[in-house]
Amino acid sequence: MAAKRRPRTERRALVRKKTKLERELRALEDAREARAKLVAGGTPARPIVVTSASVVELTAEALGCARCEGTLRAEDHDAPTVDGLTLRRVRARCRACGAVREVWLRIAALN
Ligand SMILES: [Zn+2]
Repeated sequence: MAAKRRPRTERRALVRKKTKLERELRALEDAREARAKLVAGGTPARPIVVTSASVVELTAEALGCARCEGTLRAEDHDAPTVDGLTLRRVRARCRACGAVREVWLRIAALN
């Protein structure tokens, strides 16, 4: 006769499985966030180049959340000078998970 699993044992097994999945998901999100720093816009050294100040926030929002790919909403936007270049820095918050993505842009001088 097969041993019958007690409900409490099953619950504990489910909690362990859920905890493991949550840990793996966080690790995946951490990796995605790290990758976002390596692509254009991730650091002041690799700004996204745009041609007009009017598209700075829209361009940043269009990247989506680095962690969960959710929709971003720009919360803050300033213009720090880094290594002699005036850049735009947008802080955008994910509507789904609440993570903040910092996006760096540079407005190209038009000739
Ligand atoms: Zn998110």
